[in-house]
Amino acid sequence: QPLVQVKNVCKYFKVGKKADLKAVDHVSFDVYKGETVGVVGESGCGKSTLGRCMIRLYEPTSGEVLYEGQDITKLSREEQKAFCKKVQMIFQNPYASLNSRMTVKEIVGEGLKQHGYPNKEIEQRVQTLLETVGLNKDHMSRFPHEFSGGQRQRIGIARALSVEPDFIICDEPISALDVSVQAQVINMLKELQQERGLTYLFIAHDLSVVKYISDRVVVMYLGTVVETAETEELYNNTLHPYTKALISAIPEADPDKAKSSQRIPIKGEIPSPINPPDCCRFVERCQYATDRCRKEKPELREVCPGHQVACHLV
Ligand code: SF4
Ligand code: MG
Repeated sequence: QPLVQVKNVCKYFKVGKKADLKAVDHVSFDVYKGETVGVVGESGCGKSTLGRCMIRLYEPTSGEVLYEGQDITKLSREEQKAFCKKVQMIFQNPYASLNSRMTVKEIVGEGLKQHGYPNKEIEQRVQTLLETVGLNKDHMSRFPHEFSGGQRQRIGIARALSVEPDFIICDEPISALDVSVQAQVINMLKELQQERGLTYLFIAHDLSVVKYISDRVVVMYLGTVVETAETEELYNNTLHPYTKALISAIPEADPDKAKSSQRIPIKGEIPSPINPPDCCRFVERCQYATDRCRKEKPELREVCPGHQVACHLV
């Protein structure tokens, strides 16, 4: 049984009286214990909204999210409390996600306090957590503004780990950081996963990072899943025109390969998710679009084991 099942989840936001902003539109996929599922797509494609639905920061408009087989919107108070310990989130912006008036000790220890740990134990645990993420006890009484971006994200990671979760949603955890510290943070997340058997949902717009960290990848476009497969399969046997364009944009370090690999341009900007057309959402930007693509919505279907694509041409 999967650890998390996302079933036909929609999250619409009302815009004025008539319009719906369809941030997430009929999305389904599973996450298995111990794996990392990468979610990629341009900004505004619904990745963060999806992540928030999976941790109950948003209630889905329809559809359901099951955690260990249980619908997370139907948890009793006690179950909700237990769920909060099992699932945590690391946020994109370590400048905004840490309360600037709280000390590091208060930030990292907040979850433990809420779950009723005694002060003495909190102090001990916070110290150990800081060491785990490469900081130390001298940092406990300091405030977030005294730290660099990379250090702040380490504090955010320590906070997420404090309640010993099983599943962590990492929402673009390195995109606000300097390139020089990105690799350190990614490698730390990988090590923590191995040591603790963590399961990750890793949201990013950078496909090279997702390739490095993920076992499986879900590609989103304008609120929908357009392709999903195991990482190897997705990068070696890319089928959806949108995924092809995204992958072709990854810079190639080997100059010989760079010559032969052609960058596929995507026309125009990502369209508005407000009242999107009921056909292929990629149609305006796709170089292979046909009349059928303008009339009929392509369903996500399995083309080989574990590889699903939503495109009429595939
Ligand atoms: Fe392009 Fe048509 Fe496939 Fe959409 S369904 S991605 S428009 S070929
Ligand atoms: Mg986002």
